[in-house]
This record gives sequence, C-alpha cells and structure tokens, in this order.
Amino acid sequence: MHIILVGPPGAGKGTQAANLVEEFSIPHIATGDIFRSAIKNETPLGKTAKEYIDQGKLVPDEVTIGIVEERLSEGDCQEGFILDGFPRTVAQADALQDILEKLDVDLDNVLNIKVSEDEVIRRLSGRRICSDCGASYHVDFNPPKDEDTCDKCDGDLYQREDDKPETIKERLSVYKEQTEPLINYYKDLGLLKNINGEASLEEVFNNIKQAVS
Ligand SMILES: [Zn+2]
Repeated sequence: MHIILVGPPGAGKGTQAANLVEEFSIPHIATGDIFRSAIKNETPLGKTAKEYIDQGKLVPDEVTIGIVEERLSEGDCQEGFILDGFPRTVAQADALQDILEKLDVDLDNVLNIKVSEDEVIRRLSGRRICSDCGASYHVDFNPPKDEDTCDKCDGDLYQREDDKPETIKERLSVYKEQTEPLINYYKDLGLLKNINGEASLEEVFNNIKQAVS
C-alpha cells in the first residue's frame, strides 16, 4: 500500500496518517521528520541540508529528493508507506516517479483530504495557547472554562500569529497555488481520490479505507 497524503493545514492529515499506520502497519513518512532525522544522524545529505538551513536558505530540490529517496529505500518501506509533505511540486512528483521506478514500486493512491476554507479557518483560528504553561485549548472543541484564562494555571490565553484568520488565509492561498498542479498531475495518472475531510474523524477514516481498498 503506497499512499501519498495531500490536504491543507487543519485537514486532520496527522490523525488519519496515524490511523493508516495502525491499520496497514506501514510507516508514515512525513518530510519534516525525515529531514530532522537525516540532520540528527548526520547523513551526507543531512549535513548538506543543514548547511542550507543554517544559512537561512531553501534546501534545493535535489537534496530534498535525495533525502526522500534514502528514506524510501529503507527496509520498512517495502510493504508500503504513507508519504506526507512530499511531493510539493510537479518537478518533485516527477522525481518521485523516478525513485519509485528504481525501487520497482507503484503508487496506489493519492488521497486528497478536502476541507473548505471556512472550515480550516474555524478549526485553526479557534486555537488558544496559555502564555504561562503552554497548554492548548480550542474555543469549540476543547474550550477553557473562562475564555481568556487557562484552566490549569490561571495564565492568560492568546492566539498565535499563525492561527489568526488573515495568516491562515495566506497559508491556504499558498497551499492552493502549490498543490493544484500536483492534484491535476495525479488526477491525470488516475491515482487521485478525493476524501471529504469535513465528516467525523471516524467517517473520514472509513472513506479512506474504502478509497484504498
Ligand atoms: Zn496555563
């Protein structure tokens, strides 16, 4: 089962990836994680990536692609994987096809978890953080007893800059611009499955299971 997971911030990709890991016993490969581990383990590509990051530069595609290739070549990926955060561009998607060909692996599905802009804003902008202890709340899903005060330590709650509606809208428009060509790319390959991400977590996962079976 070789899956790519696509979806905007706030779509619940992390939760659904965890469900897939449990259901199919295949690794969840989040690009952020494999970058951190390549850097920590000081692999040749990890060292190169770190040089760029330390200089505040973007890591070039060939380094990113190399790190993904290293990870996908490991033994635990033979039965499958859930790729999350890569590819982000059509050029990376092409590179991934080359890697998979080398590894003699076919992609099975590209799951596109769809959530409307309004819903993403509702989910993300409701987050409140305690300025003293760092506890996290949500005005709808996990509200504090008093809207401005932490239940645990009486600290003041605040909204992170990243969680403000204007910032979320900006992130969503970047996401859309980047991802749309990718969605079309996989649609053309006949691999794209759209999943309604606005149902309950359980329903979303049931739809995913149906889509991949
Ligand atoms: Zn607190």
